[in-house]
Amino acid sequence: MTSGAERPTPTVEDYLMTMHVMERDYGEIVAARLAEMLGVSAATVAVTFKRMQRDNWICGKGRKSVRLTETGRAAAHSVTRRHMLTEWLLLKILKVDLPLIHDEAHNIEHALSPHLEERLREILGDPHVCPHGNPFPGYESEVGGWKPLTALAAGDEVVIRRIHEFAEENGEMMDYLIQTGVLPGAQAQVVEVLPFNQTLTLAVKGERVILGYSAARYIFGERPASA
Ligand SMILES: [Zn+2]
Ligand SMILES: [Zn+2]
Repeated sequence: MTSGAERPTPTVEDYLMTMHVMERDYGEIVAARLAEMLGVSAATVAVTFKRMQRDNWICGKGRKSVRLTETGRAAAHSVTRRHMLTEWLLLKILKVDLPLIHDEAHNIEHALSPHLEERLREILGDPHVCPHGNPFPGYESEVGGWKPLTALAAGDEVVIRRIHEFAEENGEMMDYLIQTGVLPGAQAQVVEVLPFNQTLTLAVKGERVILGYSAARYIFGERPASA
């Protein structure tokens, strides 16, 4: 399909991108979580891991302590960049609705050649985050100051900046966030935090939005400079 260096199969690329996100944000690759994210069984993950170990994308014993190899990490960064550029292509140029771009990008990203990737980057103005606010590989420090909503207290003002990849994967959650306007760029205030209930209430455009901690930990905001 592409010229030059061997590229992983689309299936392996999907694994690599999720592994990149796990290593980036949680410092480790958890097989059970990966199975859940990719919607496959633990047995399928085990088989794919074996293949990926054989082909030197990952190292580590069995399903425990799996890590990306240098080659694997470069391939993971490549597919992550292509995914994020494709999301922007769909949103900005093809005017596809925000809820659809993540899934649609998954269908297209594997086919982008290095040449097309470069053209897209130029045309899109070299973005450093995807439309959901997740960092392109190499730009992680630019989003480091954004805090998960679970780190905020009642009364805090915040600008929503980022919906984590793990939330992008969750169609119901994305629908809810879009309906309620909890999206990058939105101004919000924390109205109430109820730790016993594991909920946090935001005011967004005059409306109250209740989020459970399990969702709120995947949404990041920026505090105003004076706060
Ligand atoms: Zn995405
Ligand atoms: Zn995205």
